[in-house]
Amino acid sequence: MVPKTQTKPSETPEEEKLFTSLRAAVWTEFRGQERVKQSLHVALTAAKKRKEPLEHTLLYGPPGLGKTTLAHLIAKEMGVGIRITSGPAIERAGDLASILTNLEPGDVLFIDEIHRLSKVVEETLYPAMEDYCLDIVIGKGPSARTLRLDLPKFTIIGATTRIGLMSAPLRDRFGIIQRLNFYHPDELVDIIKTAAHKLHISPISPITLKELAKRARGTPRIALKLLKRARDFAQVAEKDNIDDAVLEEAFSLLEIDHMGLDDSDRRLLKMLIEKHAGGPVGIETLAATLSEDIGTLEEVIEPYLMQIGFLKRTPRGREVTEKAYQHFKVPHKKQLSSQQKLL
Ligand code: ADP
Repeated sequence: MVPKTQTKPSETPEEEKLFTSLRAAVWTEFRGQERVKQSLHVALTAAKKRKEPLEHTLLYGPPGLGKTTLAHLIAKEMGVGIRITSGPAIERAGDLASILTNLEPGDVLFIDEIHRLSKVVEETLYPAMEDYCLDIVIGKGPSARTLRLDLPKFTIIGATTRIGLMSAPLRDRFGIIQRLNFYHPDELVDIIKTAAHKLHISPISPITLKELAKRARGTPRIALKLLKRARDFAQVAEKDNIDDAVLEEAFSLLEIDHMGLDDSDRRLLKMLIEKHAGGPVGIETLAATLSEDIGTLEEVIEPYLMQIGFLKRTPRGREVTEKAYQHFKVPHKKQLSSQQKLL
């Protein structure tokens, strides 16, 4: 089976390096997400006028849509430093204390996967976010005492693919909460063009670019990954540029179809259609049958399938739509039952 292309953990260090090198360095390079950019622009301008750090900001949405990139752009715009960490990396309250006490005034602390902070760390973070101070407990038992440590004013930018898993007290401490959406293929075309230029790839025809964008699941990270793969295929085929034939070969080997669906997507949809008459099926059953973890299903696979209208979340479970049946050229269950009635 081809490894999934869209999750961060499956990325090689080489790919991570590529994404970092392709990261939008200026706002004009950051395509789409107009509503998000507009509200961030207002907040940034106001904060700069007040000579204060930006309010704590929470960015959420599926992986690869630009949350990390936006955090870097915000820090740059504010003219401050940025420190990068993630929820699971901050294991103890002491780890958080050492990060926070090392921040310079105004700095941005970017916490990726913020929904994975432990309860203890999260509770240590509350006074830090609200009053810029840390309560540290020194000693144990009856002689233990609390020491209050003042911190410089700073901004936390939290990123999460699963806002639903964040506790309400943590979520409420963010002044700005923005959701990032999937990109339109035209926006992805622009992103691919800029990246191809940076990577010194010969110009790609508009039709081929569109095809590449169409299969990128509305996600810049996947678009860039496909571009990189296509470049490898072109090189192996000793072609100077990425054309339709190269793309076709790459997509067929990567098992990505014309809607951008990969093996995991197809397995999920087919399982629902073939074994459960299209659903509804509970997420636990789906995860167990597919041997996938619920988080991957909910964060990575389902959002795009829902976006393209192939899957519905209903109170009784997941259901496949008529559009998905058409994609697999299988008669929809409603049609089947009316045919049966006719017979
Ligand atoms: P996330 O943090 O949401 O997982 P990243 O910020 O790491 O996503 O983005 C992944 C890659 O896609 C980076 O190389 C980034 O530069 C690129 N990218 C993401 N969004 C955009 C955008 N709107 N315009 C241009 N490039 C983008």
